Amino acid sequence: MSDCIFCRIAEKKIPSKIVHEDDRAVAFEDVNPQAPVHVLVVPKRHVQSVAELEAADATLLGQLMLTGAAIAKQKGIAESGYRLVLNTGKNGGQTVFHLHLHLLGGRPMHWPPG
Ligand code: 5GP
Ligand code: ZN
Repeated sequence: MSDCIFCRIAEKKIPSKIVHEDDRAVAFEDVNPQAPVHVLVVPKRHVQSVAELEAADATLLGQLMLTGAAIAKQKGIAESGYRLVLNTGKNGGQTVFHLHLHLLGGRPMHWPPG
């Protein structure tokens, strides 16, 4: 989708600090990090949110989660711990409507989230 910022990042039409890429997903540093490690993992295919996914997308969703976990390991925060988050819809705090998994870590996370 040409007017979607994460589609444009995935197509490398907008610059970003890409930390991982495979046939179905791209991961890049969040431009406004909320923790020492803040990476977004997005599918290359445009999907608004997890609410739009179907049973056939279970592998894709699993792959996004496992990619987040692998990047956490690469970044050295697997042992200290981290958070994988899918903000979904207005009340979920979603501001970019292209599915993205947040990987947050490098500091203690609070609960409940704001
Ligand atoms: P949401 O609030 O939708 O869950 O998260 C959107 C995230 O995308 C925010 O953390 C925001 O900082 C990040 N973001 C928005 N625009 C850009 C951009 O152009 N580049 C990068 N790297 N991150 C972005
Ligand atoms: Zn998109």
